[in-house]
Amino acid sequence: MHDENCIFCKIAKGEIPTSVVYEDDKVIAFDDMEPLMPVHTLIIPKDHYSDVADNVPEDVLGHLFATVQKVADIKGIHEDGFRLLVNTGENASQSVRHLHVHVLGGGLMPRPND
Ligand code: C5P
Repeated sequence: MHDENCIFCKIAKGEIPTSVVYEDDKVIAFDDMEPLMPVHTLIIPKDHYSDVADNVPEDVLGHLFATVQKVADIKGIHEDGFRLLVNTGENASQSVRHLHVHVLGGGLMPRPND
């Protein structure tokens, strides 16, 4: 369930220091190293799945998305709203091939077609 060449697997195992926002036995949330918004946190499963369409078990997906609310509360963006982004594969320019949910907030974001 781990890919030794995967940077996010290394973060999940604590081998690379990062700014941890939330962690439990299944997921870890940490601040993106190149934030696009005042709040930009990534939530990843500790097990390796290359993307959201990589036969991810439903309980893992459920846990991942249940963590969104915890991160939003910790970051104080729950009330004003936020955006989730899950880039998947080449056409979405996914750059790290380990499933992750971007949580973006802390300011107004244009709609993608604006
Ligand atoms: O969705 P995508 O794969 O493009 O996003 C990967 C994200 O992971 C980027 O926003 C990048 O800044 C972040 N990243 C990080 N720490 C790393 C490597 C990538 O926060 N060590």
